[in-house]
This record gives sequence, structure tokens and C-alpha cells, in this order.
Amino acid sequence: MVNQKGLASYCQECGACAARFPDQNASGMDSRFVETVVEEIVRTLKKDQTPASASFNPMVPLGVSNRHIHITQQTLDNLFGEGSVLDKYRQLYQPNDFAAKQTVTIVGAKMRAIQSVRILGPIRQYDQVELAKTDAIVLGINPPVNDSGNLDGAAPLTLVGPAGSVYLPHCAIIASRHIHMPGSDAEKLGVKDGDLCRVRLHGDKPTVYENIRIRINDSWKLQLHLDTDEANATGTICGMQAEFLGKM
Ligand SMILES: [Zn+2]
Repeated sequence: MVNQKGLASYCQECGACAARFPDQNASGMDSRFVETVVEEIVRTLKKDQTPASASFNPMVPLGVSNRHIHITQQTLDNLFGEGSVLDKYRQLYQPNDFAAKQTVTIVGAKMRAIQSVRILGPIRQYDQVELAKTDAIVLGINPPVNDSGNLDGAAPLTLVGPAGSVYLPHCAIIASRHIHMPGSDAEKLGVKDGDLCRVRLHGDKPTVYENIRIRINDSWKLQLHLDTDEANATGTICGMQAEFLGKM
């Protein structure tokens, strides 16, 4: 069983970005102080590492997606009992999304498992498990890199809850990196839904990421989504800013 700690992830799990959620600030440090220090570091990094010619590129808030599950009511019933509802654990940055209190164990090939994988609400019309490549290696499966919602070629997993287990033959994907934004931001940035773009991450290991899918919906706030492998590779955490470099 694996329950990796210390990876960049949803804030309640990694603690690295606890400053953004004072009620969950494990370190006991004054959260506003930590936030100010982080902002200052990010500003300094940007100044040092951004060529003068690129200094006016817009910045996009970064959200790091730890492994998680989107679930149908049917599967929730099978795992947690008939008529179960998702209980809210924490509001996510996107206004309609929340982390649920419910977590499950996911089991891949040869009984290799990861515990405490969080379900994100609200209920969906399909079951989808989003993993980082590192998680897939632990589980012994080989999921495709797909846009969220596309389960073509998705890998099989068994989900185990307190009331039962469910085998899902096509559920696991590695989500493509993407930016959520409302139409108003898309207009400012000169992009359309489905466009691919580039961003620069100013972490410990500055990196340019390409093929970032633009996804537009007026109920969303501007936010770049990377998985834990992508964030850890650059030394970035939730709440940092990525530099938008335009369309591919
Ligand atoms: Zn996303």
C-alpha cells in the first residue's frame, strides 16, 4: 500500500501550500506572513529569470492536481452504500468543485494499491480516475494521456470502499495539462477553446511546458492544472504563478 506524502498536491494533503488555507496550516506559522514571503520569492524569481523582452507576459495561477476520482452515483452507491451523498471536505479553487470527505483504495494489476484517493464532487456522468505517471507505475497500469472526460483507451482499476468494490475496465487516465478560464480571460489572452499553448514555470527547476490545452467555461476561474509529476519536476506548488507564453 502506498500513501505518498511530501509531494506537491491538493493543499490539504501536501501541507506545502497550507498558507493558502489558514484553518489547515499545520506549521502554526502566521499564514499571511508565509503568503507574503512566497509572493516575494516568486516575484524575485520572476525578475531574475525572465528576459526583459518577456516581462509583460500575463501570469496564470497554478493548481496542482493530486490523484483523484470523479464518480457516478451508481459507483458511489456500490462503494459507500445505497443513497450515499458526497460530503464536502473542502471547496476547491473552481467555484463548482469540491473535495469530498470520501476516499477509496484503488487497486491495479497484481493487487498493487494506493490508499486514500480522494473523490472530487459533484457527481459526474462517468467514472474517471486521474493519476500521475508515477502513480500508474506504482499500480502497474499504463493509462493514456487524455483530456479529462475522454476515456478512450483508459486503463482498468478496481475501486474499494467501505461497502463494496467496483471493477472499472476503462477509468484511469493521465490528464493532459490544461488551463481553465472564463471567456473574458480567453479574449484578453487571445485564445479559443481547445487551443494549445505554452507556459513557463518559475520553480526551483524553471521549465517551459508545451501542449497545454485551453478550456473555456464562464463558471471557471483562470487556473493552470498540472499533475504532481509535472509540478514536482519544476519545483512548483499550488498557488504559484505560471507565465503565459501564448499559443503554440
Ligand atoms: Zn482541471
